Amino acid sequence: MITKRPLRRLPDMVDPDTTPDHSSRTLLRWLWRAYLNRHLWMLLLATFFMALEGSMLGLLSWMMKPMFDQVFLAGDQSALWWVGLVILGIFLVRAGASVVQKVILTRISQQSEADMRGDLLSHLMRLDISFHQVNAPGTLMQRVIGDVSAVSQVWNAIITGAGRDLVAVIVLFGVAMSVDWRWTAVALIGVPLLVLPSLVAQRFVRRHSRTAHQIAARQSGRLDEVFHGIVPVKLNRLEKYQSRHYGKLNSERVEIEVRTSLGKAAIPGLIDAMSGVSFLGVLIYGGGEIISGEKTVGEFMAFFTALGFAFEPLRRLGTITGVWEAAAAGIERVMELLAREPIYKSPENPVAAPTGTPAITFEAVDLSYGDAEVLRATSFTAKAGKTTALVGPSGAGKSTIFNVLTRLTDPHNGQALIGGVPVTDIALTDLRDLFSVVSQDAALFDETLRENILLGRTNISDVDLKSVLDAAHVTDFLPHLPDGLDTLVGPRGSALSGGQRQRVAIARALLRDTPILLLDEATSALDAQSEAVVQAALERLSEGRTTLVIAHRLSTIRNADQIIVMDAGQVVESGTHTELLALDKVYASLHNMQSST
Ligand code: ADP
Repeated sequence: MITKRPLRRLPDMVDPDTTPDHSSRTLLRWLWRAYLNRHLWMLLLATFFMALEGSMLGLLSWMMKPMFDQVFLAGDQSALWWVGLVILGIFLVRAGASVVQKVILTRISQQSEADMRGDLLSHLMRLDISFHQVNAPGTLMQRVIGDVSAVSQVWNAIITGAGRDLVAVIVLFGVAMSVDWRWTAVALIGVPLLVLPSLVAQRFVRRHSRTAHQIAARQSGRLDEVFHGIVPVKLNRLEKYQSRHYGKLNSERVEIEVRTSLGKAAIPGLIDAMSGVSFLGVLIYGGGEIISGEKTVGEFMAFFTALGFAFEPLRRLGTITGVWEAAAAGIERVMELLAREPIYKSPENPVAAPTGTPAITFEAVDLSYGDAEVLRATSFTAKAGKTTALVGPSGAGKSTIFNVLTRLTDPHNGQALIGGVPVTDIALTDLRDLFSVVSQDAALFDETLRENILLGRTNISDVDLKSVLDAAHVTDFLPHLPDGLDTLVGPRGSALSGGQRQRVAIARALLRDTPILLLDEATSALDAQSEAVVQAALERLSEGRTTLVIAHRLSTIRNADQIIVMDAGQVVESGTHTELLALDKVYASLHNMQSST
C-alpha cells in the first residue's frame, strides 16, 4: 500500500502574497541576537560619538545666550574671543565625532549585512530540491541581495537616530527648558496629536513595502529566466512578449514605491506642521515677556535656536518609523527563509558510513508525488565494485532511484541501503561523500579550468593532477584552449563543448575518488567521436567502484555487469545484456527498437 503524500510544491513556496506579520519587537530582537550583539562594543563606541555629535547642537544653542547678552548687547570685547573660540571648538568636535561614528557604523551595518547574506546562501543550499524546484533562482537571488540590503538601512536609520538625533533633541529641549519650561510646554503641545497618524502611516508603509519586495523578486526571477533562455527567446521572437511582461512589473513597482514614499514622508510632514504651530505659539506667548523686559534677548535667542536646531533631528526621527517599516518587510522575509528547515536532514544519531566498496540495495521502495506513484515496491541489488545499468522509458523512475540513494528525497515505504546500512542512518555529509555524480549537467563555474577541476583542493600535486587529467581525457583538448588549464571557462562553462564539460566532471570525480559512481545519461547528448572519448574516460573512472548508470542508449551499457529494466516505477527485468535478449521481453524490444533506428 503506497502512502499518498500531497505534492511538496505548495508548502515550499516562499513567496505567498501573505507573508506572516511579525511585530517590530520580534524582528528587532531576532536581528539583535542573530547579527548585532556580536558588535556590542563597536556599537557602544559609535553611540558615544553620535551622542557627542548630537549634544554639540545643544551646546551651540546654549552659547547664543552669552553671544547676544554679553557680546552684542553688553558690548563686552573680551567675551567675543572666548565665545568665538568655544563655538569653533563645538564645530570641530562635531566634525570629528561625525566622521568617526560614520565609519564605525558603516562597518557594523555592512558586516551584519554580509553575515546575513552568507548565512542565507549557506541555508538556501541546505534546503531540499523540492524547495528549489518551486522557487526560481532569480527570486532567491533577490532575497539574498535585495531583501538583505534592508538591514544596513535599518542600522543607519535607527542607530543614527537613537544615538545622534535623540541625544540632540533631548539636549536641545534641555536647553529650551533651562530658558523657560512654560515656553517649552507650549512648543510641545501638539506632540500627542502625532501618535495616531504615525501608527496608520507605519502600517501603510509595511504593507506596501512587502508588496514592493514581492514585485522585485518576481522581476529578478523573470530576468533570470530571460537571460538563461536567451537563445529560445530570440529564436521564438519572444523579445516583445518578455519586454511587455517586464514592463508591467516595472509599472506596478513604480506605483507601489510612490505609495510607500507617501507613507514614509507623512510623518516628517506632520512634524513640520506641528513645528510651525509651536513657533507661532511660543512667539505669541513668549514675545510679550521679551518686550516687557522679563526675559533677555539672549535667552530668547538661545530658546529659538534650540528649537530651530531640534527641528532637523526631529524630522529625521520622524522618518525612522517609515524606514524601519520598509526594512522590516525585507527582514521578515529573510527571517522566514532562515527559519525554514530542510525536510531531509541528518539523523540525530548517525551511524558510520560503510567503508570499502559497498553494494547498493533497494528494499521494496515506494515513493509518490501527490497521486503520481513514481517508485512501486522497487527492489534490486547493485553488486559491490560492479556496474549496474538502469534502463527504461522516460518517467520510469530511474532518476528518482538516484535521488533516494543520495537522499535528495526519502521514500514513503521501504529503504535504500549502502553496504547494508540504511541511507537514512548515515549523516548527510558522510552519505554524499560516498558518491561522485557525472551527469549531462556538469555544473561548471565562471572560473578557470584548473579551479573548476580542483574545486578548492590545495593538496593535489602536479603529478597527481596530470594523471587525473590524462585519465579523464582532459589533456586531449588542453592544447586547443588559449591558456590551457588557466583558461576561463565562462558562465556555466559556456566556453567548453558538451563533451569537454563532461570530461571536466569526470576529472572531478576521479579527484573525489569515491567508492560509488552515479552516471546519469552522461553521454547521450554527445556526437559519436566525443562519446567514444567520454566513454573511455568513464570506463577508467568506474574501475573498482560500485557504479550505477542511467542510459538511454543501450549500446553504452552492453557490457554492464547487470542491467535493471524499469517501467512505471517497477523493476520489470534484470540480468546481463545476453540474458535479457534471450528473455525476449521489455529489454529485447527496447533493444530491437533502438537497433532499427
Ligand atoms: P526517469 O529518470 O526514469 O525519466 P524520473 O525518476 O525523473 O524518471 O521521474 C519519474 C516520475 O516522477 C516522472 O513522471 C516525473 O514527472 C515525476 N517527478 C519527478 N520529480 C517530481 C517532483 N518533484 N514533483 C512531481 N513529480 C515528479
